[in-house]
Amino acid sequence: MDIESKLAKHLQAIPRSGIRDFFELVIGRDDVISLGVGEPDFVTPWSIREAAIYSLERGETSYTSNLGLLTLRNKIAEYVEDFFHVSYQGKSEVLVTVGVSEALDLALRALVNPGDEVIYHEPCYVSYSPSIVMAHGVAVPVATTKEDGFSLKPEALAAVLTEKSKVLMLNFPTNPTGAVASREDLEGIAKLCIEHDLIVLSDEIYSELRYDAQEHLSIAALPGMWERTILLHGFSKAFAMTGFRLGYACAPAQLIEAMMKIHQYGILCAPITSQAAALEALSGGRSIYQPMKEAYHQRRDFLVERLNGMGIDCHLPGGAFYVFPDISKFGLTSKAFAMGLLETEKVAAVPGDAFGASGEGFLRCCYATGMDDLKLAMDSMERYIGTL
Ligand code: PMP
Repeated sequence: MDIESKLAKHLQAIPRSGIRDFFELVIGRDDVISLGVGEPDFVTPWSIREAAIYSLERGETSYTSNLGLLTLRNKIAEYVEDFFHVSYQGKSEVLVTVGVSEALDLALRALVNPGDEVIYHEPCYVSYSPSIVMAHGVAVPVATTKEDGFSLKPEALAAVLTEKSKVLMLNFPTNPTGAVASREDLEGIAKLCIEHDLIVLSDEIYSELRYDAQEHLSIAALPGMWERTILLHGFSKAFAMTGFRLGYACAPAQLIEAMMKIHQYGILCAPITSQAAALEALSGGRSIYQPMKEAYHQRRDFLVERLNGMGIDCHLPGGAFYVFPDISKFGLTSKAFAMGLLETEKVAAVPGDAFGASGEGFLRCCYATGMDDLKLAMDSMERYIGTL
């Protein structure tokens, strides 16, 4: 049978993930230091694991409400109010999802009609463009630059707006660049969103991990934006809970209800054990993630100093756990540079073009890796560039 011809047409337009291609080369090799996978090196803090164990011990093994446990939704609303200064009703304006991944997919599928344009700043998380295409939308990347700290400038957004523009996806701090947006830029972006009647999906997954500011500002908190923003957040990064697969969306009830329709039939509900763990994560809040954040902060400073010290231009990222050095001066493509580093020095970092065309000439190094390995990786990098 010709299976290829049976596959959905829009799927065929989606290329394989550049990260996946690269990491298939690394999997199973324990002689490689990986700066590759965007996942905390910390095990989920014990109090959170213990809450999951206690929940199982109490025999909590059922489905929950489709929206998620009401106690958790209320806790999320409280946390979001405290952290982002944006108010939501736990009862009707919060949906608990299987990671931010599911929340992003639900939001896109709830909003996009075939042909609608979805704008996002690039380099960006690898799933954005495929998720838009899977929702039958048209992906419209806006390239950001090192000179602008990889932040989205309102002028750059204005330049791609058309009649068909419907959704804007934002992610600050950004994967893969660690970029953050200034209040001024967010205000400029918000103004355009209001003028052009756009809905914003604000992916806040790295928002606790900001090293440049005391407070993180979400576009949802700006005047006129609450009604048109879906705030997406989760537990994978700050709380080191990737394997729990838990996230959430906060938005006006009508938007949550639309996302719920898809969630209810496709997923039913997020796992109850993970929801119990998430309750504990939010109860501990800052006291749980602060020690990990301090470690990331130290590692960021170390990497940026080492890279710049060896003559590789690397901007200081404001958040997340990635640095995105410019390796274009070595005259190799990002892929060739990364392959060479892997083959000669056994250090894995992701070629920048995996995050979109504007990532070409850069490398993503994730510093959710212990300091000893980061030191070895930087020594290796220095030796490697000495051979180029
Ligand atoms: N958004 C961004 C920007 C990410 O980097 C990731 C994970 N790497 C996700 C969403 C998905 O996270 P999760 O599904 O684990 O919550």
